[in-house]
Amino acid sequence: MPEISPTLPKAFLIDLDGTLYFKGEPCPGAIETVNYLRQEKYQLRFLTNTTAKTPKMLHKQMLTLGFDIYEDEIFNATYACLQYLRSQPKNRCHFMVDEAVKTFFKEVPMDNDAPDFVVVGDYGERFDFHTLNHAFRLLMDGAELIALQKGLYWFSSEGMFLDCGAFVTLLEAATGKTAKVMGKPSETFFTIALESLQLSLSEVVVVGDDITSDIVGAERMKMQSILVKTGKFKPDQLKNPVAKPTWVLDCVSELRQLF
Ligand SMILES: [Mg+2]
Repeated sequence: MPEISPTLPKAFLIDLDGTLYFKGEPCPGAIETVNYLRQEKYQLRFLTNTTAKTPKMLHKQMLTLGFDIYEDEIFNATYACLQYLRSQPKNRCHFMVDEAVKTFFKEVPMDNDAPDFVVVGDYGERFDFHTLNHAFRLLMDGAELIALQKGLYWFSSEGMFLDCGAFVTLLEAATGKTAKVMGKPSETFFTIALESLQLSLSEVVVVGDDITSDIVGAERMKMQSILVKTGKFKPDQLKNPVAKPTWVLDCVSELRQLF
């Protein structure tokens, strides 16, 4: 394991699914680790690509699981997308997102016939030929594609499920367009969370189970990172890694021995 950098961290950007909880249960020692970091006065932000829920719903879920965290510490791709749409001069949108998440975007004008953007998030079983073909036509007519995140699959207690990134990739292939991605590993997403911390990049460590979103994002931002071997982690990802984590831990609770 590498030495701890000369600049000791002051904050952690911690992933939720696969890092703090997995298949609906807290990861071993994860609740105690969050409590420990708080007690040691580290600042905490929780960054998740989960797009089926608003930050308020995610907060409630984390409290129910037993985590002591605050709503304003949670940043998800849905929130990053709203910030982005607010900054756009024209932002009429066709949304392919969960109904509860759609209400989160209520200030954004909706247009299902000639939008400026097609916004794709967690749409579950409503991803079918008709909804995808409609989105395809809107994109061919000039709309831009926004992906809340590009994860290809996720795990629940019932098994594996296709994630919205699989459908975004399909639309990209058919239209030749490239989606603007709102969640990790996009720099925009990390920047929004970092702005709330007022720290230099060397003082912040990213923690997550997904090498393609958490660790790639940290590397792009030149931040240190910890890959945990829970959730989505697979050992062969470390053979020719797409990004190199600073530390690799068996689970998030080992963080207490590092810092
Ligand atoms: Mg994760």
